[in-house]
Amino acid sequence: MFAANFDYYRPATVAEAVQLLSTKENAKILAGGHSLIPAMKYRLAQPSALIDIGRIPELSGIRVEGGKLRIGAMTTHAAIAASADVKAHCPLLAEAADKIGDQMVRNRGTIGGAIVHADPAADYPPNLLALGGSVTAVGPNGSRTIDFAGFWTDLFTTALAPNEIVTEVTVNGYGKGTGGAYADLQHPASGYIVVGASAVVTVANGVCSKVSLVIGGATPNPVRASAAEAALTGKAPTAENIAAAAALAANGISNPIGDSFASGDYRVHLAKVLAKRALTQAAARAQ
Ligand SMILES: Cc1cc2nc3c(=O)[nH]c(=O)nc-3n(C[C@H](O)[C@H](O)[C@H](O)COP(=O)(O)OP(=O)(O)OC[C@H]3O[C@@H](n4cnc5c(N)ncnc54)[C@H](O)[C@@H]3O)c2cc1C
Repeated sequence: MFAANFDYYRPATVAEAVQLLSTKENAKILAGGHSLIPAMKYRLAQPSALIDIGRIPELSGIRVEGGKLRIGAMTTHAAIAASADVKAHCPLLAEAADKIGDQMVRNRGTIGGAIVHADPAADYPPNLLALGGSVTAVGPNGSRTIDFAGFWTDLFTTALAPNEIVTEVTVNGYGKGTGGAYADLQHPASGYIVVGASAVVTVANGVCSKVSLVIGGATPNPVRASAAEAALTGKAPTAENIAAAAALAANGISNPIGDSFASGDYRVHLAKVLAKRALTQAAARAQ
């Protein structure tokens, strides 16, 4: 199918892009196009104008600042997966980026596009929420930061206003004593996750001093497994303690997604199994 007709704009600056987004009716930002263009071809999205932000240099690149990674919205999944800075300061994010789609998708798809698309089966959201950090958005009234915890608000929906552009994603890095791991079950046809569990564990003096565990794919937005985190915090990362914590990983999941591939009950089961794998690997990497 062909997309409906649209006007095309290619701004050179963020300010110009914001101005176009605010003034052109029914306009949409075009990043890597790997989610938007298919949606347009199926006529699920029919924007009257596309604002291509692919030629705005300051939107691409990765910087390290005070132990945090600052990643431009147009930075591709491939660039994140290959970045020496990401591998050194936040290896979990490099691993997650490397799992997205295939090489062609990773070469074109961007972190900004992926987080704004807010697909429940996307790889970044559970990992970003487990790592902690924020999104920088720029609109006609200036710039604001939105914590990951408040960014994804519903199915394919974010806290971004229609006239705002994501310019940067800031992700907390981690060092010695902390480990991160992502365990997922991918749909064999698409590669998108059915369920994914992302864990970041800090071990000090033989006990887990900080535990972050997030489940993606089971609900419209990633959900923090607070009961499991609390159960493991302050305990030694033994197989028994991790199993007991992982058994609570689905406690925050109500109305799990069910479809022709995996029922809601199966997704709940997967959340616990994958949480155990992610916690085990993250704790091992922390020591
Ligand atoms: C075959 C295939 C397999 C895939 N497999 C996976 C997978 O395994 N895991 C996974 O997580 N994803 C997967 N994806 C999705 C992929 O990661 C996309 O690249 C991503 O979802 C969208 O990024 P994009 O840069 O292509 O954005 P686009 O498609 O250009 O845009 C997506 C949406 O975000 C908006 N947008 C984009 N950038 C901004 C911005 N900076 N500010 C405001 N709004 C913005 C657009 O207006 C649009 O609504 C797959 C895609 C394909 C085609």
